[in-house]
Amino acid sequence: MPQKVQRVKGVNDILPVEAKQWQALERVVKHVMNSYAYGEIRPPIFEKTELFARGVGEDTDIVSKEMYSFSDMSKTALTLRPELTAGVVRSYIQNNLQQISPLQKLWYEGPMFRQERPQKGRYRQFWQFGAEAIGSPHPEQDAEMIALFYAILKELGIEKSVTLKINSVGDSESRAIYRNSLQEYLRPHLSSLSETSQQRFESNPLRILDSKAPNDKELVRDAPKIRECLNEASATHYAEVLKMLEAMDIPYVQDDLLVRGLDYYTHTIFEFTSDALGAQDAICGGGRYNDLVKELGGQDVPAIGWASGIERLLLVVEALQPMQTDSGLDLFLIVKSDEIRLPASKLINKWRSAGLKCDTDTLRRSMKAQMREANRQEARYVAILGEEELGQGVVQLKNFDSGEQEAVAFEAVVTKINKAVSS
Ligand code: AMP
Repeated sequence: MPQKVQRVKGVNDILPVEAKQWQALERVVKHVMNSYAYGEIRPPIFEKTELFARGVGEDTDIVSKEMYSFSDMSKTALTLRPELTAGVVRSYIQNNLQQISPLQKLWYEGPMFRQERPQKGRYRQFWQFGAEAIGSPHPEQDAEMIALFYAILKELGIEKSVTLKINSVGDSESRAIYRNSLQEYLRPHLSSLSETSQQRFESNPLRILDSKAPNDKELVRDAPKIRECLNEASATHYAEVLKMLEAMDIPYVQDDLLVRGLDYYTHTIFEFTSDALGAQDAICGGGRYNDLVKELGGQDVPAIGWASGIERLLLVVEALQPMQTDSGLDLFLIVKSDEIRLPASKLINKWRSAGLKCDTDTLRRSMKAQMREANRQEARYVAILGEEELGQGVVQLKNFDSGEQEAVAFEAVVTKINKAVSS
């Protein structure tokens, strides 16, 4: 026997039963994105490695150890996208989207790839949907971005079980001031910091704030707060964002230790977490990235965005508020004898073209087995076709719930079912 091929560690098959949940979630996402006037963008799944090195940051976990990188036949260094902000910004610049409108509001959905240690809620191929607004530097855009994700949570009925954590890392001037004050605070304790934090002390000291090492955590608790180092413009921006969130009845918690893992953030950063999850409790993360477009070769255009992990969001939904998924079939056609398969095929094809959700048997099973299949697929009606019915141009239409049965002419079936389904 040839050996079975197993799927790669840390990736998932999404089977039809689960896919129904995905589709229900996707319907909500599309609906909300549409009401907030965000247009869908579908950038490629792989990009030049350079894009992520420059766009996400060499010093991040993603770029330094998690990327799926390879070179193609022409020896170009390529990477499966680990996130989509860099790709969206690359596309925005390359396609001159600012010429279409000075404010581009975009959303996306698709698989991302990171070589992390797999565990519940953390996979190597995982799906994100996200939104980016490129063009506005103003606090109302930050507030809208957050409101957009909150609206999705509300549609899903889980907003009360989720916490919005928010912080500001200010502009580059504020961050430079904070960097110094944080380094000064940490310097006497440098040798007791974890190895990673020691490495980050010079290159990216802010990341020490979200270190998971117990000793680092304790030290950092009394560290100076970035909020206290914001210059006037940054502090005003942040205060306005918070006021707008309050005006929109969006509860938040200020988290002084929130810095987020990516290098490109400026000003507002935020994360949504849920108690319904274990260690991997973040369902959405994002923030403002005013310098990224320029750093990737575009004009000096401010932007803000977020991304949410679909697998994790579905874990929360499943635990708290299961979704209404697609219901079963409208109709199942039961064919009494194999001699009439041809007219049966023609009939079901007609019904399908007319928009009925229907199925029939192609395994040439017994009547009883066909009936079982109709039941398994939760059909509301079965249509029974035999030689006799065929001669009269009718099917025996049976309501699966009530058991009522009547002969209905071929041409009348669609209207009758549609009427019953919509009532
Ligand atoms: P990030 O791009 O790291 O800010 O992540 C944004 C969101 O994507 C997180 O809040 C998670 O919901 C989700 N996410 C990130 N990494 C993974 C992963 N390895 N597996 C599953 N979901 C993930």
